[in-house]
Amino acid sequence: MQPKPDRAAWLKGGNAQCNFGFEGGGQPQHRFVLLGAPGVGKGTQAELLSQRFNICPLSTGDIFRASKALAGGCECSPAMLRALDYMNAGALVPDETVLSLIVERAKCLRCGGGFLLDGFPRTLAQAEALEKLLEENGVKLDAVLSYELPLEQIVARLSGRRTCPQCKKVFHVDSRPPRQAGICDDCGVALFLRDDDRPEAIRVRMAAYEQSTTPLVNFYRAKGLLISIEAKGAPGEIFDQTLETIRTKAKP
Ligand code: AMP
Repeated sequence: MQPKPDRAAWLKGGNAQCNFGFEGGGQPQHRFVLLGAPGVGKGTQAELLSQRFNICPLSTGDIFRASKALAGGCECSPAMLRALDYMNAGALVPDETVLSLIVERAKCLRCGGGFLLDGFPRTLAQAEALEKLLEENGVKLDAVLSYELPLEQIVARLSGRRTCPQCKKVFHVDSRPPRQAGICDDCGVALFLRDDDRPEAIRVRMAAYEQSTTPLVNFYRAKGLLISIEAKGAPGEIFDQTLETIRTKAKP
């Protein structure tokens, strides 16, 4: 039986070990970067891709949220506490801080099971640093999947998003409602609206996204790695389109 992705090493960093223990094998393992403005449904696609290809979804936002959950019992470094201040304000965490977290987790990039980077890189400097790090570790990206959607549809999606504080599953009041309103299907606990999904924070995030991510889309396009996917329709439809696009366009 194939091992299941386990993100302990990614979320905790340091000497944390995961149980994935992937040694490779018959199946070609994928290495993707996912791009998309907040609210395009990138997280949902990451989850679906992760299940389909049995690869870890590596989200930098999840590292910050995991640290935030621990911040009361505070094992966080001063740099991480500063990073959480940026995150709570909806601003991007400085490249230097993000990159130090990634370097510390380079073994996840080398993992024989492949990876799905979600939320990193976010800036051109991060993309360049990632390229160098992958080269040093002897791995190559298959593709950069860029999910695209008009701004007004993004805002509608974000305003209804609700997250489970325990399993981190994301629901939507209209398009992906939980069985019981406001309650996680799996954990039975109350869902919440993330601080960075509140209106003021959304505006800051969208502006930061536009400013920082456009150059990085151009960077990957120039390298022939960028695959644009229209993020319109139900998550299942977008996923089918994603699979078809990977099949026809991604580098093997
Ligand atoms: P996300 O879940 O990817 O939307 O990330 C939530 C928040 O974490 C962002 O709004 C940023 O404050 C911070 N963050 C996550 N990834 C990065 C990154 N690669 N660079 C800078 N800030 C990040």
